[in-house]
Amino acid sequence: MKAGVTTGRAHWLLFTASVLCVSALAETPAGSATYPRALAAADSQKLASAIERNLSPLAPAVPALIGPLGGIRFERLLGGVFLALDSYINADIHYRRAQAMATAFNKPADAAASAISRGEIAILIGDYDRAEKLSNELMLLGVRADLPWAQAKAEEYLGVVARRRGRLDDAQAHAQRALALQRALGQEAGTATALSNLGTLARDRGDYAAALDLFRQALAIRERNDDQLELTLRNMALVYRDLGDDAAARDYFKRALDVALRHGDSANYAAILGTWAGYLVDAGEFAPALAAAQESLAVSTAIGDRPSVGFDLLNSGRALLGMERLEEADSQLRGALAIGRELNQHEILAHAQVSLAEVALARGDPAQANRLLQAAFADPQAARYKPLMAEVNEVREKIATAIGKPAQALGYAHAAAALREELLGTRASRRLAAQESQYARAAADQQLALAGKENQLQATRLAQQHLQRNYVIVAACGLGAILLLLGWRFIGVRRLNNALATRNAEIESQRAALSHANDRLQQQADELYQAAISDPLTGVSNRGHLMRQIDARIADCARNGGELAALLIDFDHFKRINDAHGHLYGDRVLVAGVQTLRQWLEPGDLLGRYGGEEFIAVVSGDAANAIRVAERLRERVAEAMTGFLPEANGAVTISIGIALLSRLPKPARLESLIEAADRAVYAAKSAGRNRVVVHAA
Ligand code: GH3
Ligand code: MG
Ligand code: MG
Repeated sequence: MKAGVTTGRAHWLLFTASVLCVSALAETPAGSATYPRALAAADSQKLASAIERNLSPLAPAVPALIGPLGGIRFERLLGGVFLALDSYINADIHYRRAQAMATAFNKPADAAASAISRGEIAILIGDYDRAEKLSNELMLLGVRADLPWAQAKAEEYLGVVARRRGRLDDAQAHAQRALALQRALGQEAGTATALSNLGTLARDRGDYAAALDLFRQALAIRERNDDQLELTLRNMALVYRDLGDDAAARDYFKRALDVALRHGDSANYAAILGTWAGYLVDAGEFAPALAAAQESLAVSTAIGDRPSVGFDLLNSGRALLGMERLEEADSQLRGALAIGRELNQHEILAHAQVSLAEVALARGDPAQANRLLQAAFADPQAARYKPLMAEVNEVREKIATAIGKPAQALGYAHAAAALREELLGTRASRRLAAQESQYARAAADQQLALAGKENQLQATRLAQQHLQRNYVIVAACGLGAILLLLGWRFIGVRRLNNALATRNAEIESQRAALSHANDRLQQQADELYQAAISDPLTGVSNRGHLMRQIDARIADCARNGGELAALLIDFDHFKRINDAHGHLYGDRVLVAGVQTLRQWLEPGDLLGRYGGEEFIAVVSGDAANAIRVAERLRERVAEAMTGFLPEANGAVTISIGIALLSRLPKPARLESLIEAADRAVYAAKSAGRNRVVVHAA
């Protein structure tokens, strides 16, 4: 009976919908079809309001005609139609009525199902307060009426809201509980969603190995049931983007867009296109980025997806800024800023303010740029986004230059460079971790394959034993038959042996392949580690690694007693060399100088790049030894670099400041050691350069 009512109404609705659809499409002005997807979404909206106009007056009469249960189903059916048409406001109205009726007639399962749809809508349109309130109600209902599927959904939504608000620990706890509930229910789609959400949180925390693993598990499920597949593909693209693997990122974006087009879900399509636009802006491909952002904007605007509209305006603005179309960039970015404020979404806010500062700077208004940057920093969350911080420091450098403060500009340039170096290092270690997890998975797969082969062997052995038993029985039947069978058995055994030999060879080749893959991964891991700890120009330790090495040596001396000296080596008048012969020539001088330093240090000594044209060597032993080594380095560099500069009297020299650990106040720290060496270099420079000065106690 109930099913009959529902189906009858569905047919009626379908009929009305198709009639209205035709008239709605007929109203579409010709020539505005720039974005077919946006047009389709806009048509859906028109169709939705026509349906609402025609059906709403009938709704109150429905319960009287077919009873309260039929009324609930009718409202939910309408909600579903509007949701399918991306008409969120209308969908929410009907789901809300269904929920109210279900609560009044004590139908908890119907009330929960309606609340679930409403929660989804609230998240889609960025109304996080409502989403949170609905989820809490849903949770209560789920506990009271013992509906674990409702609790699972409530946990999922609470997790999503917590993450958008920047509360990552809460989000993690909710997502984990959602996963446990969905798994216990055996719900594949829900399990994939929970895995996906956990993967996104792992990515937020920078744990890329875990993120890849979780997304792969979600991908395996979604490739099987083809539900929300485009979102997981997009998530994979984002991880590979963060890992700096451009080819993989692009590949996953393409697949995500293909699937989104096939599925035709406007919200998903806009979300993926929008992320792709952001990726293109970062890659400096501004024209295609603008096109993608504009199309996504058209779709998101048509369906009222506010968070997506915010990101699309931001990406359009950034693309226009890249193309130096400042007026247009300014207006798009202001739109993004307004939405960021309205939704209280930190990522949109901070990015919009920094980009607006760049626009102001490009227009020659450094004061306004400064104000906007300050505003971006009023939000403490902004400091979490490191690439954004690097960008901020670069803008500040430009501002300082523009207002004639070179010292400040230099400071910001240093801060930006340090952040970029840190990001490079982080990226290298992320790739390392991701590869390790991939390796672990590959090894597990191989293990499984080997176990499979082992089983086959076992089965062959059993078959052989079975055969033997049969032979014995047959042998008893007659001598002639025995002879015949013996011959047959001989052939059979030989065949089995051949099969066994083939299997063994297969296993051997699998083992060899595994060990080969192992070696390759090990080699890649070593290379990545080297890249993460070395200075790319000179090949000596980079600053981060050097500081860790010196720290370890200081701790060693504190434990076992012993002395060490830090030699801060600074190339003299290096700026002049750059100015006279260019930066590239300066680089060659640095490389040759460092080669000489390396050659004349002992095997156990440390050498690394402290920054710019400054290097630090660490040697053990007393002051006399440190001075001897420093003098040797100073002389050898001067000798080796004689004639390196083309001018007649061109000499390349270095000044060295020495700091001794035992002369520092206790407990001796890394910072005080370097500070002392720095003061000594300063003294050497003041005394005329090309000399060694020891820091006094
Ligand atoms: P001083 O004798 O007082 O040390 O003078 P200086 O010119 O060497 O010192 P200053 O600190 O004023 O300038 C250092 C210069 O080194 C400025 C900077 O452009 C240059 N420099 C820093 N890193 C590099 C690099 O990697 N390659 C090149 N070619 N130049 C660099
Ligand atoms: Mg210097
Ligand atoms: Mg110098």
